[in-house]
Amino acid sequence: MFRPLPRNDQGCGWLTSLPPRQPRPALQAEQQADLVIVGAGYTGLAAARHYALLNPQAKVILLDGQLAAEGASARNSGYLVDSTLNDGHMSANGLQQYRDKYALNKAGLDCVAELVQAHQIDCDWDASGKFHATAVPAHEAKLERFSRLLGELELEHKMLTGADLQQRLGTSYYSSALWTQGGVMLQPAKLGRAYIDLLPDNVCLCENSPVLHWESQSRRVRVVTPLGQVTAGKLLLAVNGFMAAGNIKRKRAFPLTLTASMTRPLNAEEYDAIGKPQPWGVLSAQAMGATVRLTQDRRLMVRNTVEVWPRINMTGRQLMRRQAIHERGLQRRFPQLDGRLFESLWSGVTCISGNNAQIFERLQPNVMVAGCYNGGGIGLATLFGQQMAHMASGQMTDTIAQIQARPQATRLPPQPLLGWGVRMRLLRDRILARKES
Ligand SMILES: Cc1cc2nc3c(=O)[nH]c(=O)nc-3n(C[C@H](O)[C@H](O)[C@H](O)COP(=O)(O)OP(=O)(O)OC[C@H]3O[C@@H](n4cnc5c(N)ncnc54)[C@H](O)[C@@H]3O)c2cc1C
Repeated sequence: MFRPLPRNDQGCGWLTSLPPRQPRPALQAEQQADLVIVGAGYTGLAAARHYALLNPQAKVILLDGQLAAEGASARNSGYLVDSTLNDGHMSANGLQQYRDKYALNKAGLDCVAELVQAHQIDCDWDASGKFHATAVPAHEAKLERFSRLLGELELEHKMLTGADLQQRLGTSYYSSALWTQGGVMLQPAKLGRAYIDLLPDNVCLCENSPVLHWESQSRRVRVVTPLGQVTAGKLLLAVNGFMAAGNIKRKRAFPLTLTASMTRPLNAEEYDAIGKPQPWGVLSAQAMGATVRLTQDRRLMVRNTVEVWPRINMTGRQLMRRQAIHERGLQRRFPQLDGRLFESLWSGVTCISGNNAQIFERLQPNVMVAGCYNGGGIGLATLFGQQMAHMASGQMTDTIAQIQARPQATRLPPQPLLGWGVRMRLLRDRILARKES
């Protein structure tokens, strides 16, 4: 049983800036397939395409409860990353673990880059790197440790402070930043749309088809939606933040609800007022700090809330209340701009485990699950989706071995302890990041 079902708000600025498209018909009546996939975000779309290409005679049915690629895969901040912030200062063992993590992220980045290149995908690709920044001098030591770690890995990076930093970002808010060369900024909803367009003919995408429940009987699986059902040889669950809602890996992964706002494009006067910087993306040096971007079309995006939300998707009045927090984040960084420039506001759901490990598993001989990428899912979801297609085709690959060698998601405490624990941790992080939100 899946409960709650996904329910997207309509405010995502990445989506509203795209032309509307005709949804694919919902699943009707009884259908047969070789592979059925639940969830059409980057994971499900990448898996469907790759499986269909590997098995051209096979029929794949891909189901989404909402519109495909309009969940987290459209609502994220658009950072396609190889390196992730680390406190540095590691033992040889810790350094090797970071190297392995980096290698997997890099493989994810490369597989998105290959698709973008091969199919000339227009997703505002910007390979100018990313910034990890802080406004709190006490956090600068963390960036310095991270810099030493990147140095050990021979990854190109640079520390920026003072006027150089202010000129690059157009704000004097941050006291210091570490720029890493590896890292791409993109328009996430454009990438998701492209993944839909790349589906081969032997994939049938059914939208607005929430899966109510699924069951597996000996060699067949059955999934049920309000208007139809599919019987298939294999099932891939790619619902990410809705895993726990479907009672999948509930003891290992849980959802977090994030919110963001985006301004209209700055006009010439406003752009001038911030010093006409090139586009950039800033990640906070502090967990729970704000993620902020200046896009190619001169919009500013602020994502600075993370919560445990019982219904998973946040809509209506609760969502509206978060905009004031985004406005404060904008004003702190750009007091010269009107804080009410935001024209879009949305929530998105991400999936996280206790030790930041991802999930890539065979639950039963013919049922597989992939997801739980925390804030790093653009590359990993594409990679894991493709590798799941190999696994479902009975093929072992070096990348599957690489994924399986990573630490498994640790067991979480039972509810309500888990909910309390996560809320306490988020509260602590929020207090520590109060000057960075
Ligand atoms: C605000 C925000 C910012 C982020 N920023 C970044 C970033 O900058 N960089 C990065 O790499 N990652 C980022 N992430 C994470 C990234 O977006 C996700 O890891 C990635 O999109 C996961 O893709 P997915 O296909 O596994 O899941 P999703 O995109 O969540 O897709 C799952 C799909 O399953 C569907 N579904 C759920 N339940 C059912 C059901 N019962 N029946 C049918 N369908 C169902 C949903 O409708 C959804 O479309 C961010 C996430 C959020 C929310």
